[in-house]
Amino acid sequence: MHLSGACLCGSIGYEIELDGAEVADYCHCRECQRWGGAPVQAWVQVAPGGFRLTRGAARPFASSAQATRWFCPGCGSPLYMTDSAGASVGVTLGTLDTPAAVQPNVHGWVCEQISWFDISDALPRYAQAPPYDA
Ligand SMILES: [Zn+2]
Ligand SMILES: [Zn+2]
Repeated sequence: MHLSGACLCGSIGYEIELDGAEVADYCHCRECQRWGGAPVQAWVQVAPGGFRLTRGAARPFASSAQATRWFCPGCGSPLYMTDSAGASVGVTLGTLDTPAAVQPNVHGWVCEQISWFDISDALPRYAQAPPYDA
């Protein structure tokens, strides 16, 4: 499945290639809450070769020794995250042109889930990181 996405102002665009077996996770961690300004961030974990920018250049922010978060310097949209091991590229589902095309299939970092945020689905839950690269 071939999908495209962009930031809010449109200056950064990307394409991803999915085989349908990807981990798509709701991340409830505090870093994602602060980064997105939202109770949860939804991601799809793409093989590094399946992600490419089509226009513009995102700005990096090293949120930990392992993780770099990339955002649009013009509008602030959180776009994607890379890891030092190069295992996967996490792409924010909200920036996809067709966000309904990828459905989350797991919850991660529920140990930091906000108490009023109700997740009543039956998806697997992990206290910390789900197995992104399984
Ligand atoms: Zn932008
Ligand atoms: Zn997170």
